[in-house]
Amino acid sequence: MPNKQTHYDVIVIGAGPAGFASAVRCAQLGLKTACVDNWRNKKSQGRLGGAHLNTGGVASMTLLESAKIYYQLNHEIAKHGIHAESISINVPLMIQRKDKIIEDIGHKMADVFAHHKIDHIHAKARLLNTRQVEITHLETQAHSLIEGSHIILATGSNPATLSCAPIDNEFIIDSIAALNLKEVPKKLAIIGAGVVGLELASIWHRLGAETILLEAQENFLSLIDQQISGEAYRIYQHQGLDLRLGARVISAKKGNKKVTVEYQDQDGTHSLRVDKLIVACGRKPNTGDLAAPEADLLLDDNGYVYVDDNCRTNLPGVYAIGDLTLLGPMLAHKGIEEGVFVAELIAGIHNPVNYDNLPCVVYSEPEIAWVGQTEQALRATGEPVKIGIYPLTATVRALAMGKTEGMIKIIANSENDKILGVHIIGTQASELIAEAVLAMEFSASSEDLARTIHARPTLSEAVHDAALMLKYLSESK
Ligand code: NAD
Repeated sequence: MPNKQTHYDVIVIGAGPAGFASAVRCAQLGLKTACVDNWRNKKSQGRLGGAHLNTGGVASMTLLESAKIYYQLNHEIAKHGIHAESISINVPLMIQRKDKIIEDIGHKMADVFAHHKIDHIHAKARLLNTRQVEITHLETQAHSLIEGSHIILATGSNPATLSCAPIDNEFIIDSIAALNLKEVPKKLAIIGAGVVGLELASIWHRLGAETILLEAQENFLSLIDQQISGEAYRIYQHQGLDLRLGARVISAKKGNKKVTVEYQDQDGTHSLRVDKLIVACGRKPNTGDLAAPEADLLLDDNGYVYVDDNCRTNLPGVYAIGDLTLLGPMLAHKGIEEGVFVAELIAGIHNPVNYDNLPCVVYSEPEIAWVGQTEQALRATGEPVKIGIYPLTATVRALAMGKTEGMIKIIANSENDKILGVHIIGTQASELIAEAVLAMEFSASSEDLARTIHARPTLSEAVHDAALMLKYLSESK
């Protein structure tokens, strides 16, 4: 542990996206910063990046890209007049590639820390009071103390578990183990058709697993725009994903190298036998051993750290960011923004996070991305709205790519034309949404977007065309 120094301006606990960004911004602002993180790679070395890099978003993205290529080779290249034989799959190599990318990013992050002279303390940290953090060495379990004028808690989250489907790390696995399988399961069930369940389904189904998603809620992706979720449901079903809604899992037992899953829906109790069962039913904040009881850090009943609108906990000088709090959704980029915000706040700059303009993405194929409000939420509040929709079937680039599923939906206030929400389903929706986020950050009207020149032929033309639909709508009145 490099902590010859024992006093810092800022101690950040956790080096995931939120903690990492916060530590770097603190250092850039001239604050002497330490970041304590206990993540270990397979060689027991410290690794920055947290769950997002090592077991979450980045890990998942590399496998999604591999699955996309495999699926294209098997199902999509023939119509381009390309013929390939003997396409096979080597899952261990695919996982190795993922691990190598993660390792490389981890090294680059360590370089950034070194460049900014941030002390990376590879150990377990525990908040003792508003100034002191106990450091536990991972091998020797020896303790030491460091002090910070400010402390930023950023320990992230872990997959939630279900008592009815206990994880055994072999047949019943969580979303972390689901990114480290050694082979494609023949028959796979996933509990939860939320963001994580759908992304994992998009990986393993496209690699060849018969995939069944069991979702307790009757409404599919209930929080997103209902027109988009309806379209997503239709497309996924068409792809062969077996989506069972209103299906609450009540038990899962392993036996004879299979898992028997029981679930209830409106027709009664059903049973399934699968090769693997993935539990993807949400995440819980890592606050179990984050603070000593005498620190009196205020948590809610679900373990989230209580914070005010400025990420300040009940303890003066102690902040919490990222997945630890209920300020905004559990998203890496939300955590990054909060990390920068808190660092600047400590340095006397007040640049609040705009939680109303946060892009969200489901990295399935096709992708779903949105920003702002849904049609159903706006109609519920009585906001006067007008809607422009443009299908990718009418977009030249999408036709050339053979990726015509999906649409762009722009919702604007019908009186002042301000854009209130943009919802996209289709290939590269995660990239297309950036334009909408920028437009909304500048309080653009749909006419601003319609009058902005877009390159042709591109997918982004579809965003422009959806805005033009709104313009024509206004002109025809
Ligand atoms: P989620 O809450 O979005 O979905 C979990 C689903 O599991 C729910 O729909 C729930 O109804 C269902 N469920 C729970 N118990 C069940 C049971 N017994 N039987 C059947 N269904 C059951 O959680 P998630 O998908 O695990 O995601 C966790 C968090 O991580 C979310 O906040 C998400 O936004 C975030 N995340 C985001 C991304 C991204 O932005 N692409 C990626 C990963 C995670």
